[in-house]
Formats: sequence, structure tokens, C-alpha cells
Amino acid sequence: MFDAIIVGAGLTGIVLARRLAEEKGQRVLVVEKRNHIGGDCYDYRDKNGILIHQYGPHIFRTSDEAVYSFLSRFTSWTDYQHKVLCYVGGSFYPMPINLDTVNRYLGTNFTSESVASYFDKVRIRKSKIENVRDVIETQVGSEFYHAFFETYTTKQWGTSPENLPPEIVARIPIRTNRDDRYFTNKYQAIPTAGYTAMMQNMLNHDNICVMLGQDYFSIKDEVKAEKVYFTGSIDRYFDYAYGALPYRCVHFQIEEYARKQYQPVAVVNYPNDYAYTRVTEFKHFLKDDTANTVIAKEYSSDTGNPSYPIPTKENLAQYQSYLELAKASKVTFAGRLGTYKYYSMDQIVKAALTTAL
Ligand SMILES: Cc1cc2nc3c(=O)[nH]c(=O)nc-3n(C[C@H](O)[C@H](O)[C@H](O)COP(=O)(O)OP(=O)(O)OC[C@H]3O[C@@H](n4cnc5c(N)ncnc54)[C@H](O)[C@@H]3O)c2cc1C
Repeated sequence: MFDAIIVGAGLTGIVLARRLAEEKGQRVLVVEKRNHIGGDCYDYRDKNGILIHQYGPHIFRTSDEAVYSFLSRFTSWTDYQHKVLCYVGGSFYPMPINLDTVNRYLGTNFTSESVASYFDKVRIRKSKIENVRDVIETQVGSEFYHAFFETYTTKQWGTSPENLPPEIVARIPIRTNRDDRYFTNKYQAIPTAGYTAMMQNMLNHDNICVMLGQDYFSIKDEVKAEKVYFTGSIDRYFDYAYGALPYRCVHFQIEEYARKQYQPVAVVNYPNDYAYTRVTEFKHFLKDDTANTVIAKEYSSDTGNPSYPIPTKENLAQYQSYLELAKASKVTFAGRLGTYKYYSMDQIVKAALTTAL
């Protein structure tokens, strides 16, 4: 009955489904084990009318025209400039580090020029960047590393930054001006009716059929198609032949408060205090005007919903073994779980738009 089966109704699977249906005129079956579409980008309106991002705050940004114009076919946008504060020693500071972060934290009066000289003076010169600590200390020196990054990274990844490969952070943005936006992409916005509605619009096509609450492996022998696109975990597909690929997981404690606002911005990071890493207040994204507010405290751990691949040398070698199996199969593996790689949503859409069908 179907030309193609797509495993996973996350953003990757949905963009692929739309392309197959539209560009190739193929009949597509999307199989999703959760009882909703959208993967980790899933959102819903709660009883207060606040749009909640169930699997963590999702802020769309891109500078890619093709990605933006493709998604704009399925949603209108509400402009949103993401701002993050970092709670250190009882005060809130803009994150990424900018001129105000430095002046407030150190009690100085640096200008854009003199703050650049300050960083040049305190940054630690190392001949080789071997880990995350090196990445950060070579940019901002020890004081900012210890106050703003060390414990946050340790909580987030469950190990010291010295044990983490530099690729995890690559570079940290530092601003010598007062720009307090988290991102600087050309387009920064939230779908006005939410991510789920945007993705539902993509699935609204006569050639696409969606099956929810169905693990692909329990129907694998019953549903057949010329082509299979798999956006679930690659290690699961091959029955963990080389062991389970490690992931860092996040989970959320949702709390509701009978007041209009909990914190001044959508996300506050807590590097040093409390067990959680950050607190998200959802109503900021779409400026939901409600009497109550809802927040999520975010905790990291080694178990639960696989959130972030851990790109150490050993783990990437393990993934490489799975990749060899994938190459020898007829299945196309895609998305963050299928390729064991962290992608932001725009990168996911870009990859799905350029995947050979
Ligand atoms: C905490 C967090 C915050 C993030 N914040 C941002 C952000 O602010 N901005 C941004 O751009 N990106 C963000 N991202 C990244 C974004 O979530 C991903 O880019 C996107 O979800 C990847 O889509 P995907 O379809 O590849 O994977 P997923 O969303 O994981 O979708 C895969 C789907 O496959 C299904 N599946 C798996 N196995 C099976 C099976 N056997 N049978 C049937 N179905 C199966 C899963 O249930 C899932 O629905 C964030 C990610 C996390 C974890």
C-alpha cells in the first residue's frame, strides 16, 4: 500500500514525509511510537492557555533562507529574541558573556575596547585545546570559567569539563558590546500556533498516513515498502549489536505559580546553586497573557529520554561501527538519533531538505 515508511514523526521524519508526498507523489506511512507527533519539538497548550514545550525550551533560529521559506509555508511566526540570564553569587548576569556581564561581575567600567584587552590579558594560553576547560579558559580565563561554566557543564554532562571533548562547545560566544540576545541569526521566532501545529500542517497531505502509539519494531514484518527512512536510534535498529550508544538525558519538573511572572526572561541558568541546570518560563515565548505562570526546572542525568549524544572518541567509534552496518543496509538513517549527532531544528530541516530521496 505504501511506497515509503518513515519511522519517527519528529521534525526529520515529517519534513521527509512531506517531500516524498509532494515532490515524488509517493504514498507515505509515518510510524511513531509516542502518542503525539513532533518528537522532541512537541508543544501543547495547557489549561492556562500557555504553550508548553514538553521536552524542553525550543527556540527557532536560522540564517538559512531555504529553511526559513520552507517552514514559512506551514506557519506564521511570532518574533522572539531569546535572552538568557545566569544566576551567580545571588545576582543575575546576561549570558552569553557581554560587556554588562563583565562590568557587573567585576565591578569595573570597561568599554568595548578595554574589555577586549581585559580578556586578552586573562585568557590562558595553551598550546593544545584538549577539552572543554581548555576551550573556555583560552577565551575568558579562570575566574569566569569557575564562576559561570565549570559547574554548569559538570551538571549538564555529569562529568568535569576536563573529561569532555572540545567539540561539545567548540567556542563560546563573548560579546564586547551590550548585545544581550542569545542568538544572532537573521531569523529568530516561534511558530505562532506552536511547533506541533506547524508540523501537523506539514503532515496534512493526501499521500501521508500517520500511525501513532506504534513501535516500528512490533509491526516491522507486517508493513512493507520499497524504501524505509529510520529516524529512531540507530543502535536500536541493529539490536544494540555494538552496545547502546550513550546519551545525556534531560528531564523536567513542571511547576505552576499563581502569579503573572516567575522570572524576567524565558530561561535562567543556575550554574552553581541547586541540582537543576536551568529554569524555563514558557509564557515568554509567545507572550501568553495569563494570570498564572508555568515553569520547568531542568535536570540532567544518564537515563531517560535520550537528549544529547556524547561525542567522545570512543562513542563516535562505536557509532562508526553502526554506520558501517547502515551503509550495508537499504535503510536511510536520518535525524539526531539516526545519525547520533546533535542538530538544532534549522540544521535538522536543512538536512532533511537535502537528503536524497
Ligand atoms: C532539551 C532540548 C532542547 C532543545 N532546544 C532546541 C532549541 O532551542 N532550538 C533548536 O533549534 N533545537 C533545539 N533542540 C533540538 C531539537 O529538539 C532537534 O533538532 C529535533 O527534535 C530533532 O528532530 P528529529 O526528528 O531528528 O528527532 P526526534 O525529535 O527525537 O524525533 C524522532 C522520533 O522518532 C520516534 N521513534 C524513535 N524510535 C521509534 C520506533 N522504534 N518506532 C516509532 N517511532 C520511533 C521518537 O518517538 C521521536 O518522536 C533541543 C533538543 C533538546 C533535547
